[in-house]
Parts: sequence; structure tokens; C-alpha cells
Amino acid sequence: MHKILLTIALLFFLTNNAFSQVERDQVEDKHKWNLADIYPSVEAWQADVDMLNTEVEKLGDFKGTLGESSESLYKALSFGNDLVKTLWQSWIYASNLSNENLNISENQALLQQMRALGTKFGEVTAYMEPEILQIPKEKIEQFFAEKPELADYDMYIDNIQRLREHTLTEAEEKILASFGLIAGNQNEVYGIFNNAEKPFPKVTLSTGEEVELTASAYSKYRTAENRADRELVMKSLFESYGDFKNMLGANLGGKVKKDWVYAKNRKYESSLEAALNSDNLPTAVYSTLIEQVNNNLPTLHRALDLKKRMLGLDELHYYDLYVPLVKKVDMSFTVEEGQNVLLDALKPLGNEYVTVLQKSYDDRWIDYIPTVGKRSGAYSTGGAYDVHPYILMNWTDDFESVSTLAHELGHTMHSYFSNKTQPFVKSDYATFVAEIASTVNENLLNDYMVANAKSDEEKLYILGSYLELLRTTIFRQTSFAEFEWEIHKKVEAGEPITGEGMCEIYFDIVKRYYGHDAGHCVVDDYIQYEWSYIPHFLGYNYYVFQYATSLIYGTALVENMMENGQPAVDAYYNILKGGGSKYSPELIKDAGIDPMSPEPVQLTMQKMNRVMDQMEEILGKTEDN
Ligand SMILES: [Zn+2]
Repeated sequence: MHKILLTIALLFFLTNNAFSQVERDQVEDKHKWNLADIYPSVEAWQADVDMLNTEVEKLGDFKGTLGESSESLYKALSFGNDLVKTLWQSWIYASNLSNENLNISENQALLQQMRALGTKFGEVTAYMEPEILQIPKEKIEQFFAEKPELADYDMYIDNIQRLREHTLTEAEEKILASFGLIAGNQNEVYGIFNNAEKPFPKVTLSTGEEVELTASAYSKYRTAENRADRELVMKSLFESYGDFKNMLGANLGGKVKKDWVYAKNRKYESSLEAALNSDNLPTAVYSTLIEQVNNNLPTLHRALDLKKRMLGLDELHYYDLYVPLVKKVDMSFTVEEGQNVLLDALKPLGNEYVTVLQKSYDDRWIDYIPTVGKRSGAYSTGGAYDVHPYILMNWTDDFESVSTLAHELGHTMHSYFSNKTQPFVKSDYATFVAEIASTVNENLLNDYMVANAKSDEEKLYILGSYLELLRTTIFRQTSFAEFEWEIHKKVEAGEPITGEGMCEIYFDIVKRYYGHDAGHCVVDDYIQYEWSYIPHFLGYNYYVFQYATSLIYGTALVENMMENGQPAVDAYYNILKGGGSKYSPELIKDAGIDPMSPEPVQLTMQKMNRVMDQMEEILGKTEDN
């Protein structure tokens, strides 16, 4: 059960809003969330935390009893379940309260109490998962047959039991765990190099300005309107990585070998299988993504040709890709205007959805206004199971604010319906499905904005931004996923892997994706070093592909709903209400699309092509004039 705690702790990075001058007490109540729905006062919160501090010790008393009988297993799990539910609730209160103003140290102290309590929970319950794993499969089945109430815990137990064949003896586990000390080395080395020791190249721009290419300077100048400038900036940056390609290749190679050593010792066929196993995803989800995206490269090529046309270029280069496709159109929305747009835009999801949406506004689930010391960014949290989800926003009166609210409301509605439908232990949803509901909402908002645009210029801006999102999230992220897979496969086949080899693999993939040979986009020589600029290959393990799959599934589900109407909308609720009651591929299938089939990518490509049809139609009009 302690796994849950880590997830909450990671949710909250402490960065406050550096810009706002508005004090919290100047904000109208209707624009502030109402934390009193969780606890009427800090005293009431403290009472629960004190209770938890005492009760958690009792969880230790069940040690050694879990496999005794169905009754003893159920008693331990239901006792723990109630405590964890209250733990989450008190955690959400403390973190939301402290995020209102990170400068208030009393509120930060509440969060510290929570962290200490969370650690205590982790320590006291550390015996539970290994002990449940020890119970033989047949005995577990017998327990379930004897005690129907255990059914609530079937996913929790299966998630432990299914790791049996990948769990070693206690002594072996100890040895493997001891290597944890060096497991992060390559990432650390890369971080030190990338953030501190790597020399920043200096370039002189067309204006005569001399620029040192730090990470932020690079992301600024690669969008430069002057073409020679953006070429110079990208070439210099990537070549500055290329100067170290052998060291960086050896370092990344070390990380890939480490992944394989762990996977092999745990009796996995591949590092990919090991990485996907935490969400119980079959490797076919990954290979299907890569295969289908490759089959649909002509759609990317069409997008590149359109970019070339819109930028007025004879030849598109890789360094042209960061230039915005369409000039930004300023659209302004107050909180109330944004709320109303979403009530309309999300109507296709049905009355049930819109009613809860209205409730989230009326009952103050959302904190909108940026104020002094408030945590920056936005999040949704559904951890207060018996209460309702909460959203933190930093509203800035623009379209991005409406879009962010649509996104967070996707998470909130997912949490709301899952909490209402599932028992607590099955209410939390997996990372793999988490971004589907948010993506569905963003899609519906975009479609609504296009349909209701006040001018062609506005329409083109929304379509263009959406097209760029699809291009970068689906095609670019999948090209990364393909590279990550290729270098792992080399190591797993016992072949040598060097920086030079990585350059070759990466260059081939990028040239293929961007249609270099057919002239859709010229991929210049120095692009072969780009892999060494991307920190995710070291910091994550087969993770980035989920950016692509989430957007694909969310887009495909909306296409499915538009084509098939009510039955498809009803099916979508299987995800919203499903929480963690099934493994992700099954939940997605129940919602109407099969992640192991070509369908999701095909539907998404259909949408992407329609977006380009609409853009070309507008462009045709203006070119005729
Ligand atoms: Zn999200």
C-alpha cells in the first residue's frame, strides 16, 4: 500500500508564482476553492492526523497473519484501506492549503507532518506486499471463493501476485537492491555535464548581437524569424554536443546496459517488457504505436509540406520547424467566460458530464486566480475520495487558461466518476490512462473553438496550434520511442553500442520520419547528434511514448464519438468510471478503441488530415484574394 504514498509526494513541486501581486483575501470567494469541504478547520485536520499516527502502528500487528485465512487477510486489508483513505484525504488538505501560499510556514509545517506520517506508513506496511506475494496462487483463489468481500482487493492482490515470476529469493533481492546505489549514475553524469560543465557555444546573430547558447537562449533563438540565425543556433548547439559524442554515447550506453541487467536478472525477455510491466502493459502496445506511426508518415509529410507553404519556403529544413506556423491571435476570457465556453464545448459528453461540470463551478472545487506566493502551474487532484476533486489554476484571461482548465477538468471528472463508481482501493487510475480524459477535453474544446471562430485568422490559429501539437507529440515523441527501443535492442542482442552508432541510428530514424530523401524536410548532418541533447533517454525508462499514446487515444475516442454518437459516448464512460478496476488496455478497449489495433492511429490521422483540409481551405481563400 505504500506505493500510493510516493505518487502523492511526487505530485507537488514547490515553485511559487513569482508574478502575482494580488493578495489572496482580495479574491472573491467564488474564484477560490473551498477546502472546508475536506475539513472545517486545521484543528479537525490535526485530529485525523493524530488518529492516523496512533492507528498506523496497529497495521504492524497483522504481520505474519496475511496468509493464515481469508478472514485474516480481509481484516488486514480493510483496516489498512480505511487508514490509507484518510491519509490521502488529510494529505490533499495539507498540500492544497500550503499551495495557496508557499510563503506561509505554518502551512508548510502541516505538509511536513504528512511526509513524516507517510514515511511511517511506508515502514509499518513494508511487510505487506512481500507477505501477500508469499501466499500461493491456489490459496489466494480459495480465499476469494470463501470471502466475497475480498473482491474489492482483487486488482491490488493481482498486481502483487503477478510479479511472482519476476521476484527473486530474499538473498538475491538484497544483492540486486544494493546496486540501487549506482543505478542513477549515468543520469547524474549527464545532468552535471548538461547543466554545468558543457561549454556553451557562442554565436553572433545577424543583428550583431553575441549570444551564449544556454538552454533558455537556445529555445528562444531557434524560433528566430531570421532564417540564417535559426540555422546557426541549431547547428552550433548540436555540434557542441557532437564534440562529446563518444563520451555521451558511452554514458547512455551504460544506462541502457543497466536497464538490461536489471531486466535480465528479473527474468524479463527485454528491458521494454520490464519497463511496461509496472502498468501491466504488453509490449505490443509499444510496437503497435511505432509500426502504425511509421505506416502513417505520409500524414507527417503533408504537415511538413503545409508548413513549407505557410512559411513561404522553397525548401524546408529541420531548423525551420520551431518557427510558429501561425501568428498568435489574442483571445481574451474571464473566468466566467471560460467556464461557459467549456459548458458548451463539452456538451457532446452528455448531460451527466455537464451537470457535474456545473457543480464543480458552483461548489467551488477550483482555485482560479494567481495570488502572492501561490504555487505556479495547474493540477487536479482526486485524492479526497469521500469529498470531491480539486483543481488549482493560475488564470491569465487567455485561451491557454481555458485550454488548461479543460485539461484539468478532464482529470477531475475522471476522478469524480471513478471515485463515485469504484471502491477506494480501485478508484485510482494508471499513468497510462491518466491523460486520456484530459486530452478528450482539449480535443472537444479545439473543435468547438474552430466551429465558433470569429474570423478565419482565429480559426487558422487554433487549427495551426493543434496541428503542431499533433506533429510534435505524436511523430516526434514516437521517433524518440523508436530510438530508445533500437539502442536497447542492440545491447540485448549483445552488440556493441557507441556514440557513433547512436548517431547513425538516430539520423536514420529522423531522416525517415521527416521524409528527407523525398524532399519534405531536409535533415542536415548535425541533426545526428540531437539524441544527446535529450535528457529523457537518461532520466526515464520507456516513458515518453505515453505522451504520444495519450494524445492518440484521446483524439481517437473523440473521433469515435463524433462518428458513432451516443453508444460511443456511453462507452467512453467505461474509462471515466473505471478507475483502476481493470488493466489499462482493457479499459481503453471497453471505451471503444483497441490499443493493439491500427485503429487509434488511423482515427487520429483522419483527424489530422481533416485539420489540414480546413487550413488549406482558408489559405486557398486568402491566396485567391
Ligand atoms: Zn494532465
